Amino acid sequence: MQHEKVVIIGSGPAGLTAALYTARANLNPLVFIGNQFGGQAALTHEIENYPGFVEAISGAELTERMREQAERFGARYEYASITEADFKNGRPFRIKDDNGNEYLAETVIVTSGADPRKLGVPGEKEYTGKGVSYCGTCDGFFFRGKHIIVVGGGDSAIEEGIFLTRFASKVDVVHRRDSLRAGKLLQDRAFRNEKMNFIWNTVVEEVVGNGKVDHVRLRNVETNEVYDYPAEGVFIFIGHDPNSSIYAGQIEMEDGYIVTDKHMMTSVPGVFAAGEIQDPIYRQVATSVGQGTAAAMSLERWLSHQEALEEAEKAEASA
Ligand code: NAP
Repeated sequence: MQHEKVVIIGSGPAGLTAALYTARANLNPLVFIGNQFGGQAALTHEIENYPGFVEAISGAELTERMREQAERFGARYEYASITEADFKNGRPFRIKDDNGNEYLAETVIVTSGADPRKLGVPGEKEYTGKGVSYCGTCDGFFFRGKHIIVVGGGDSAIEEGIFLTRFASKVDVVHRRDSLRAGKLLQDRAFRNEKMNFIWNTVVEEVVGNGKVDHVRLRNVETNEVYDYPAEGVFIFIGHDPNSSIYAGQIEMEDGYIVTDKHMMTSVPGVFAAGEIQDPIYRQVATSVGQGTAAAMSLERWLSHQEALEEAEKAEASA
């Protein structure tokens, strides 16, 4: 079985930065790319808030540059997803990928991110990419002059909704309650925006179209009235679900997010986590990069310490 010193699970900004730092520490990391190279960041059309890029850079280009940079220092990539990880039985940790290959890892950095939560209604999956979107910055441009709805009432829904008014002719926010969860400042900006309208106490029951989205079926949760409402785009921002289910019961978590200490170490010594899998709050490329850096530096120090301890134990045993 292949025995690795450092395995990094995930290839978003946190994972690729952890790869760069562990590679530069001569630890020869093996990165499991996962389903989507570059993670959510790679799907972002333009990143305008990553320091150092005066002109915006596409998420795909930024993450590809990160990949090449880490590779230059010895990072290796496996185009596979990890489906099983045994953190219960101590080091080396046994992990398995979706090709059925098993590995032993002395240390692991989990950076498998979080995916946008789905509504789970008919038509949603079918029309994803054909009118249904989970990313205003990625897809807003395609909705110039169109009438769209935004689902959700948190900061993301309102922030993205306001952003989408740059393109859309009208943005209806469909929210299941009669008040928003979003911060007061954002709410004030949204209420002042002439292109924004609010449909309260309402949920989407179905996304309907003919090749592309044409309308949604809405239900008022107070009156139970069901009606069709025109929409050419449906942007869904109802939170994120961390990709942590395979670690359940093995590692400390809170609401599905992996808990780390200030050194990015999880409750299992030798297993670190960085990026959105442990960060429900900031979710920025810049913060993920910082967390990936911290995780890699902590790992390197922790591993050196462990190796020194193990050598001392061996020397004592043979004396
Ligand atoms: P969130 O705060 O969890 O809000 C999710 C919204 O979706 C809530 O309004 C919720 O309704 C609604 N919702 C959840 N499940 C639903 C379902 N199945 N059907 C219909 N509606 C549903 O998520 P978020 O907006 O992505 O924000 C996540 C975190 O990032 C928050 O801490 C937020 O403050 C932060 N954030 C900050 C900024 C910023 O400061 N600029 C920007 C983006 C995100 P209820 O309100 O009824 O629960």
